[in-house]
Amino acid sequence: MSSLLVTGIGQLVTNDETMGDGSDLGLLTDAAVLMEGRRVAWVGPARSAPPADTAHDVGGRAVVPGFVDSHSHLVFAGDRAEEFAARMSGTPYTAGGIRTTVAATRAASDEQLAANLVRHVLEMRRQGTTTFETKSGYGLTVHDEARSLAIAGQATPETTFLGAHVVPPEYTDDPAGYVELVTGPMLEACAPHARWVDAFCERGAFDADQARAVLEAGARSGLRGRLHANQLGEGPGVQLACELALAAVDHCTYLSDADVSALAASGTVATLLPGVEFSTRSPYPDARMLIDAGCQVAVATDCNPGSSYTSSMPLCIALAVREMRMTPAEALRAATLGGARALERADVGRLAPESAADLVVLDAPSYLHLAYRPGVPLVHEVFVGGALV
Ligand SMILES: [Zn+2]
Repeated sequence: MSSLLVTGIGQLVTNDETMGDGSDLGLLTDAAVLMEGRRVAWVGPARSAPPADTAHDVGGRAVVPGFVDSHSHLVFAGDRAEEFAARMSGTPYTAGGIRTTVAATRAASDEQLAANLVRHVLEMRRQGTTTFETKSGYGLTVHDEARSLAIAGQATPETTFLGAHVVPPEYTDDPAGYVELVTGPMLEACAPHARWVDAFCERGAFDADQARAVLEAGARSGLRGRLHANQLGEGPGVQLACELALAAVDHCTYLSDADVSALAASGTVATLLPGVEFSTRSPYPDARMLIDAGCQVAVATDCNPGSSYTSSMPLCIALAVREMRMTPAEALRAATLGGARALERADVGRLAPESAADLVVLDAPSYLHLAYRPGVPLVHEVFVGGALV
């Protein structure tokens, strides 16, 4: 197995509090990382680095773990730029806009959907994302959901069955019939291609009983659960997610005190998606309150053509700091280790021996620049599985 030493690291974020300065970020200065094959083999001061087959000097730049984007919707066709323009002129966002993308996705070939996915994956990677989750949910027929997941599985192991995204037009008069389809033949066709099951628990989408039926059916088929909830208003979704011990509950924009208590007492990660509030001109979730209450948080993009068409984790970090009152350290940790926890992945989101050799070299002396210099392309180099990509 060949080894590669990344050296000349001015500041290294490990997310391992047993290393470096002992902070949550486990910061080291003048550091090096030894990668063997796809794994990190050693982390420490550059002066005591072990020998390696090759060395790569990053010239004093900062290095952070690759971003873990635990929430995206990348299997789709078309875009909704006109809807965005209308929204910026005062038309409010509703869950119904999803149907526009459903029509475009159903009409697209497998090749078109795969090419669109690859385009977005490359876009994410250029911005430092090395692990991502993505979902079905724009097909909403047995065939279109199953092919969406098969295509997604070519790009990531973190695939989520979201047949319960919205009730499709042909079931408008029979939402119960649609839930039967999702929990029956659609689940059967999709489960082999999915690791996760998800539902959109929101007014205008699915209620708590429907979401519970979908999540429980998914669990019986071996799928772990995650949930979209409390995006457009308070509702039962967060409590349901905590009760079912789901890995993550995503959005969490409108929370009651009881929701916050439930999150703090559970292991369920609250995934915050500030690109949505930015793109729908909505109030942001209160990350400060969640963190101070002891909740686990992640930050992700929710990249999708309707409510958040950004693939940029650096932008989401900047928004988390500026708009959700996270510190720069908390936001970076939420975008790396937090995402890893939301995906129940112990191998990513940190840089320590045995972790995946996924890292981002920033064209900056410190991780602080991610929030301090919003909109600036600071990602200099990206390593995935030990390889420069
Ligand atoms: Zn979403």
